[in-house]
Amino acid sequence: MNGATRSECVVLDGKTLAARREVQLTNAIRGFANRHQGRVPTLATILVGDDPSSAVYVRMKGDACGRVGMHSRAIVLPASTSTQELRGVIDALNQDPDVSGILLQHPVPQHIDERACFDCIRIDKDVDGVTSHGFGRMALGQEAFGSATPSGIMRLLSEYGIEVAGRRAVVVGRSDILGKPLALMLSNADATVTLCHSRTQDLEQEVRRAQIVVAALGKPQFIPADWVADGAVVVDAGYHPGGIGDIEPGNLVERCSAVTPVPGGVGPMTISVLLEQTLRAAELTSASR
Ligand code: NAP
Repeated sequence: MNGATRSECVVLDGKTLAARREVQLTNAIRGFANRHQGRVPTLATILVGDDPSSAVYVRMKGDACGRVGMHSRAIVLPASTSTQELRGVIDALNQDPDVSGILLQHPVPQHIDERACFDCIRIDKDVDGVTSHGFGRMALGQEAFGSATPSGIMRLLSEYGIEVAGRRAVVVGRSDILGKPLALMLSNADATVTLCHSRTQDLEQEVRRAQIVVAALGKPQFIPADWVADGAVVVDAGYHPGGIGDIEPGNLVERCSAVTPVPGGVGPMTISVLLEQTLRAAELTSASR
């Protein structure tokens, strides 16, 4: 490798971008309140059970609402909640004119039919982009609230001017809220996408060929740094205790063109998109009244 000719690695600083976006959102929400007799958008969050990480994520989302002047309504339900009960709670929020957006924190306890509950969320309040309807619209390139984390990743890439069109992107992990929608978003942005999962035959070779690598598999440092090609763009969506991602950092910042930090890369962008989509939902609803 010739260090003299290689340009410096860009750190994809989601934390700073999100903070900057919060200033704009604060102003936009003030403007919304001025136009709507002091009313501000409200995000309803639903946490089912006592998973400590989920509780932290929900709290962070509520705190972020507070920072930009939005209301949040935190609904906490016991782990014993049934699918039917949870659907009842979502239905009530669907009907509530004060609620602009609904976030059901993933994952819910195993006995609950998460898909059925996600799909209960009214499309115009699906600000976390989890419904089948919203997913389908996004996949077809129609107007939709995109799934928050993949939308945040796309925003991060575009804010840093990272070219996606025509490049080979490899996404490792195909969950309905992250890897799968991200693969479609990248494809819609004209990348050539390979979506890998636990049955992928030779993950190492797939990662080696990638010009853009996204790790979203939820296994600490599962992808060794030396699988990643020189000059690649590296997006690590994984987050594990101690600030560890799904990719081993190794010497990536010396060899790659762009790298997300963990933490401070993808996570803040997820929350930023959620706030933005909640404001948008409130605007669309008020316009149609
Ligand atoms: P998930 O639902 O557990 O899905 C994991 C995916 O990884 C599955 O598609 C699985 O394949 C695949 N996988 C598992 N082992 C693999 C292996 N050995 N090789 C290749 N693929 C493998 O996870 P998730 O909810 O998408 O989350 C993924 C990571 O992102 C986690 O670390 C999570 O904490 C993080 N995350 C971050 C944010 C954020 O805002 N920063 C938001 C959401 C998630 P199969 O489909 O074959 O089972």
